[in-house]
Amino acid sequence: MIRITDIIDRIIAYNSEADLDLVERAYVYSARIHEGQVRLSGEPYLSHPLEVAGLLTELKLDPVSVAAGLLHDTLEDTKATMEDLTGLFGEPVSHIVEGVTKLSRLAFRSSETRQAESIRKMILAMADDIRVVLIKLCDRLHNMRTLQFQNEKKQNKIAQETLDIYAPIANRLGIYGIKTELEDIAFMYLFPRPYREIAGQVATKKDEQQKHIDTIREIIETKMEEADLPCEVQGRHKHFYGIYQKMIKQSVDFEEVYDILGFRIILDTIPQCYQAIGIIHSIWKPIAKRFKDFIGIPKPNMYQSLHTTVIGPFGERVEIQIRTKEMDRVAKAGIAAHWQYKEKVGLDEKTGAVFAWLRKLVKEQKNLKDPDEFMETVRIELFPDEVYIFTPRGDVLTLPKGATPVDFAYAIHTEVGCQCTGAKVDGRIVPLKYKLKTGERVEIITSTRHRPSKDWLSFVRTAKARSRVRHYINVEERKRSLALGREMCEKALRKYNLSLNKYLKSGEIEKAAHELGYKTADDLIAGVGYGKVTPLQVVRYLLPRFELKDEKETVVTRLTQRIRGKKPKSSILVKGLDDILVRFAKCCNPLPGDPVVGYITRGQGITAHRTGCPHALSMDPERRIELEWAPKTEEFYPVRIHVLCDDKIGLLASITAAISQGKANILDAKVDTRADKRADCYFTISVSGADHLEDVIKLIKKIRYVIKVGRLSA
Ligand code: MN
Repeated sequence: MIRITDIIDRIIAYNSEADLDLVERAYVYSARIHEGQVRLSGEPYLSHPLEVAGLLTELKLDPVSVAAGLLHDTLEDTKATMEDLTGLFGEPVSHIVEGVTKLSRLAFRSSETRQAESIRKMILAMADDIRVVLIKLCDRLHNMRTLQFQNEKKQNKIAQETLDIYAPIANRLGIYGIKTELEDIAFMYLFPRPYREIAGQVATKKDEQQKHIDTIREIIETKMEEADLPCEVQGRHKHFYGIYQKMIKQSVDFEEVYDILGFRIILDTIPQCYQAIGIIHSIWKPIAKRFKDFIGIPKPNMYQSLHTTVIGPFGERVEIQIRTKEMDRVAKAGIAAHWQYKEKVGLDEKTGAVFAWLRKLVKEQKNLKDPDEFMETVRIELFPDEVYIFTPRGDVLTLPKGATPVDFAYAIHTEVGCQCTGAKVDGRIVPLKYKLKTGERVEIITSTRHRPSKDWLSFVRTAKARSRVRHYINVEERKRSLALGREMCEKALRKYNLSLNKYLKSGEIEKAAHELGYKTADDLIAGVGYGKVTPLQVVRYLLPRFELKDEKETVVTRLTQRIRGKKPKSSILVKGLDDILVRFAKCCNPLPGDPVVGYITRGQGITAHRTGCPHALSMDPERRIELEWAPKTEEFYPVRIHVLCDDKIGLLASITAAISQGKANILDAKVDTRADKRADCYFTISVSGADHLEDVIKLIKKIRYVIKVGRLSA
C-alpha cells in the first residue's frame, strides 16, 4: 500500500510550489472518516483512495486533483456532506468530488443503451471539469487491479463496463497507459481462455523475441550515435488485448501479430525526429503506406509521433515510433499532460489550440438543446467505427459502421429480423440495404408472412444477422425442396398407379437413396426438389423390371435436363433459393429483363410470369415467390409481336429483313389484311431478352409505312 509520504514526495518532485497542506489535510480527513471500513480484500478502506491519489501523481496532476482523489468516496460511502467538504477544502475540491460521486451513480441500463448514455454523462462531467474523469479513470484502474476480490458476476459486469466505457474514454483522452492496462485486465476476466493462450504463447516466445529486440536496439543505437543523435530506444511489447483484437479483426494467427516487433525512439527536438526516420529508412526497407506523420498532422487527441514499419534484419516487420520527450509525455498522460504543474484549471484557460475537439464538444453541449444531436457528435468523436441508432422508443443500439436496417432489425430480435419487409429512417422509407448513420431513428416494418431473403447476405454487417439469415435459408431451402420433390415424385409414380407413401413405408425409397448416393429418403426427395435428380431417375430405380410406359419425360424433367444440360444454373433465379426448377409461363412468355414473379405449381416446380400477367394475378398469393434474372444469359426466348402497317407490296419482306438485321429468328409469321388497306402482321420471334426485343422493335419502327409495333403479352 502506497503511503501518504510517497505521494507528497512525488508531488514535490514535479511541482515544488504545490499546496501540500491541502493534500495532507485531505488525507487526515479521509483516514478519519473511512475509519473502520474495510475493502473486500480485507485491507483498510483508506488504501483505495490512497492508491487512487498515487495514480493521480503518476499523471503529475495538481494538488486539487490529488486531494479530491483522496476524498473521492467520502460523499458516497461516509456521512460527509458537500458542505463539510466545501468548508474544509474549498469549492474546487468539493465540486470535483461531487462530480465523481455523480458519475459513480450512473445508472447502467440495458447493455445496448449503457454505452451511449454513460458516455454522454462522462462527456458532460468532462465539460464540467476534466479532472472528474481523470479521477474516475484512476478509481476504475485501482478497482480493476483489485477485481479478484469481487464475485464472478460482479467481475464480469465491471470488466464489461470497463471495456465499453472507461477504456475508450481513456483512449480518446490519449491516456494510453491507463487504456492498455484497463483493457488487459478486462480481457483477462471476460475472455479467460484466449487470454491464457496469448499469455502462454507470449511467455514461450519471450526469450527468442528478447534476443531480436536487443539486436535491433543495438543497430538503432549505433546508427543514431554515428549521426550524433542522442536518443533513448525502447523495445515495445504489445499488450495482450491489442494482440487479441488484431487476431480477431484481421483473422490472423498469434504468430503473425506477435512477430511484429515494436520500437520507440525518443529524441529531443522535432528536426531530430525527421532525421532519425531518414536513418531508419536507410537501414531497413520501409513498407509502403505504413509511414504516418502524426507530428505534422497530430491526432485529434493531440497525440504526436512519426510511425513507420520496416522489414527488419530477421525479415520480420518492425514497427517504429519516433517522437520527442514532450510528445512521449503527452502520449502517456494524454489530456492529463496539460493539467500538470497547474494550480488552477479551466477548460478555456491556456489550453490554446490543444484539445480543440474537447472544447468544441463542450461548447456544442451548451448550444445544442437537443441531447440526441449532442450525443451524435460525441459518439462520432469517440467511436468512429460504430454507429448509434435510435429505436422508435428512444433506446440506442450500437452497430458497426455500414450496418443496415436488416442488422438493426436482427439486433432488436431475431423474429423482427426475419419478418422485416422495409424500414423507415426518420419517417422516410429506405431500401433494406440502406447504410444507417449515427443519430437516425429507425422503424422496422414487418409482416408475419415475410421471410428472410438470400440477397440480404450481400449487405448485412453484423454476425448475428448473417448467421440467422443463413440458417433460415438453409432450413427453408430444404423444406421447399422436400415439398417440391415430394409432389414431383408423387406425380411421376401416379402414372404407374403407384404411391410414394407405399415406397416410403416399404423402405424402397431409402434403398434408392443409398443407391443414388443420398443418406436418407428425405435427402433423395429433397434432391429431386433441388433438381439434382429427376423424378424419372427415382421411378426407374423403383421399377427396373417394368417397361416404362412413357419414355418421354415430363415437362419438368425435360426442363431440368435442358437447364442442367446447358449450364449449371437456370437463367432465372428464385430469390433466396438455389437450384429450384423454373419454367416459363406460356401465357405471357417472360423475357430476361422483364419484371417477373413466380408461382409454385403443383408438381411442376415454379412457373415464371411477367408481373402484369392477368393469369398470374388471379393465382393464390400464398404460392407467390420472388424471382430475379441471372446476370447473363445465352438462351433465346420466344415472343409474339404485332406490327400494324399499310398494306404495301414488299413491306412484309422489309419487316422480316429488319428482324433478321436485329439478329432475331422468326419462328412463325402471319398476316391479316384489313378492309382499311392496312395489315396486321403477327410474328413469333426468338430473342435473348427484353433489351434485344426492344432493339428489334426499334428497327421495325424505322420502316416506312409501319404504323405501330407492339409485344403481345397473352
Ligand atoms: Mn472509489
